[in-house]
Amino acid sequence: MTKQDLLEKINKEIRTCKKCRLYRTSTQGVPGEGSSNAEILFVGEAPGFHEDKQGRPFVGRAGVLLEELLGKIGKKRSEVFITNVIKHRPIDNRDPFPDEIKACREYLNQQIEILNPKIIVALGRFGLQYFFPNKSISKEHGRPKLLSNRIIYPVYHPAAALRSTAVKEVLKIDFLKLPKVLSGEIEADEPELKKDNKNQMSLF
Ligand code: URA
Repeated sequence: MTKQDLLEKINKEIRTCKKCRLYRTSTQGVPGEGSSNAEILFVGEAPGFHEDKQGRPFVGRAGVLLEELLGKIGKKRSEVFITNVIKHRPIDNRDPFPDEIKACREYLNQQIEILNPKIIVALGRFGLQYFFPNKSISKEHGRPKLLSNRIIYPVYHPAAALRSTAVKEVLKIDFLKLPKVLSGEIEADEPELKKDNKNQMSLF
C-alpha cells in the first residue's frame, strides 16, 4: 500500500469513528489533508464550525492566517499536511476532554508514522500538550524539541493570533524560523530525561 492508500484507510476510519461522544453532535469527522510526502505536519486542536461543515481542517479564519504564514516561508498549503489532535468538532468549540483526546490518539499517531514528517508543528496548547503534556505554549513557542527522534516545533495557535496583535507578531517570528528548524540550522532542544515508574530514565 502507498502512503496515500494508508492515509485514506485512516480517513475512512475517522469518518465512521464512534470511539467518543463527539460523533453524535458533529456533522462529520475531519481527518486532515495535504501532501503524503509533506516534510511539515501541522497539528491543531480540533475542527471548528467551518471545518465541521466542510470536512476539511483549517478552512475558517485561522486557516486563512495559516496559509498566509505558509506563504511567508514560500510554502503552499498543498505541500504540507494539516490535521488536528481531535478529529470531530467539540460542541460550541469547547476544549476537548482528556477522554476524547485519548480516544483519538491512535489516529494522529498513525498519521505521524505514515507521513514520517521532518518536523511536526504543534499549534497552540493542545497541539503542544499532545506531545509534552506539562508544557506551556507561552514558554515553549518557537523552541523546537526532540521527542523520540522527532522534531516538535510548538507555536501559538493561529486562532489565538487572531485575538491578539502581540501573539500574531510572535507567531510570525516563530514561523519565519521554520525553514532554519527544517534545515537543522536551528537545533532542537535535547529531550528531558526523567525517572519512570521502575526508577529508570525514560523520555516520558
Ligand atoms: N482550529 C483548529 O485547531 N483546527 C482547525 O481545523 C480549525 C481551527
